[in-house]
Amino acid sequence: MKKFNLKLHHLITSVAVLAFILTIASSLWSSYRTNTQSLQENTLETNRVYAEKLAMTANDYIEETLQTLSISSEEVATFIDDEGKLLHEADRMKNQTNTFNSVLIVDAKGKVLATSPQSLDLKGKKLTSEAMKEAILQKKPMISKPYEGITNRLLIFISVPVFAKDGSYLGLVGGTIYLKEKNILNEVLGEHFYKDGSYVYVIDGDGRIIYHQDKSCINDLAPENMVVHEIITKLSSGASRLTNSEGDDMLAGYSYISIADWGVVAQRPTRMALMPAKNMVKQMLYVSLPLLIISLAIILWASLKIARPLQQLAALTESSMKTNEEKNLAQVPGWYYEVIQLKKALIQSLSFLHGQVSFFMDQSTTDPLTGLTNRRTLDERMQKWTQEKTPYAVILLDIDRFKLVNDSYGHGVGDEVLKFLALKMKNNTRVNDICCRYGGEEFIILLPDTSAVEAYNIAEKLRSDIEKTISPTGKNITISAGIAEYPLMATKQTSIIEKADQYLYEAKEQGRNRVVMTDETPVF
Ligand code: GH3
Ligand code: MG
Ligand code: MG
Repeated sequence: MKKFNLKLHHLITSVAVLAFILTIASSLWSSYRTNTQSLQENTLETNRVYAEKLAMTANDYIEETLQTLSISSEEVATFIDDEGKLLHEADRMKNQTNTFNSVLIVDAKGKVLATSPQSLDLKGKKLTSEAMKEAILQKKPMISKPYEGITNRLLIFISVPVFAKDGSYLGLVGGTIYLKEKNILNEVLGEHFYKDGSYVYVIDGDGRIIYHQDKSCINDLAPENMVVHEIITKLSSGASRLTNSEGDDMLAGYSYISIADWGVVAQRPTRMALMPAKNMVKQMLYVSLPLLIISLAIILWASLKIARPLQQLAALTESSMKTNEEKNLAQVPGWYYEVIQLKKALIQSLSFLHGQVSFFMDQSTTDPLTGLTNRRTLDERMQKWTQEKTPYAVILLDIDRFKLVNDSYGHGVGDEVLKFLALKMKNNTRVNDICCRYGGEEFIILLPDTSAVEAYNIAEKLRSDIEKTISPTGKNITISAGIAEYPLMATKQTSIIEKADQYLYEAKEQGRNRVVMTDETPVF
């Protein structure tokens, strides 16, 4: 299995994409947050202002109603014993004001004198409800708490006292509002039930619901509700976010209706109020999507562009362990500081390395004094040619009486003579011939694809050249040489040299300054 290598390109891309996503997410989130906050504040404020307006309207309306009832009570005082007029007045009050579901005129003991509509069938009956008792006792304008009347309806009773001219209490004139039926509150507060779940409700001073879009809630007590609690304790207006009795998150505005000790609450589901913020986020994403895709493509492209030179450098470093990659390294696009420096350093260190390597290679293959190849290279080459069965000839040569040179002129001059001979060898051989210092003042010339006779001629030319040239000693020196040929004379590498050595020995024997190839000197 191939080992997974985490590459710079992957890292840069991941970091860039991550940063990109985080930026988008945070900008969307912050704009969503700001938006929802302002939407929430706006909705709360709108609801508060709306609740205040409704409270004011209700206040004015109730005030007006009490006013109308007072005027009526003054009238009633003048004909309290006239049954016909009382009936007429009750009808007038009900029909003209259109405020009450029913109108009652009651005497000082709570006995009904007249009703409208008459169908209530209450005339002559004594009303004993707490609200009635309270109104008679207090002898002042009253707005009752909700209670179940004699007709089994949940109602509120609004009444004003009737006093005779002399100030004696005669009874009261009042009207009922049937809370669970169509009533004046619907008209005053209007139909505020919107499709998005907004609604308005009214509570009395005990926190009991007296008006609600859902009639089944009417008469429920809700003092634990946050805004209801605010209204009944602080008697003020305001706004708050809360969870209603059904567990819905709501933004509520509220206001106190002082004249009746009621409170009105206008609220809207938070979810609906904040919907535009969600839509805005969707819209933002939708509108900026093409731009996002383009940006992402640019990021990916840029990360590739940044990583590529480093990647190439890394790959070339890996392969330069085996081959010389200096040329390819130079072509890596170094368009930013780090790559330029790395490239420079790599090229420098590679060329240094290769210089060192070739230096040591030369060292191991070259004789330091003469600059000729050394014995190791000679052995390798002969071994190779022997294996390949490449024919070759060998000239083994030795300076005559060299000991004398050393003795007469010193070792330094001796060395100069060795260098002089090396140069002569180079000059008298061909490009493919290999000149080698075999050891001391003995040299070998390897001549590929060369016969013994050809080798003899070359050796003879060399010998004659040396003989004629003044050496570093200031005098002429001479050499002797032996020739052998592979595979004609021997098939083993060592035997070839032995053979050449044998002829060299013979050359020395025969008087030196000569080349010997066979037991006898050839005749041309
Ligand atoms: P011959 O004609 O029989 O070859 O006589 P020769 O004096 O040359 O005898 P031989 O070949 O045995 O002598 C080799 C001498 O070469 C011995 C040594 O002092 C000298 N020699 C060997 N290597 C070096 C070298 O590197 N520098 C110098 N200056 N002399 C060397
Ligand atoms: Mg010798
Ligand atoms: Mg010698």
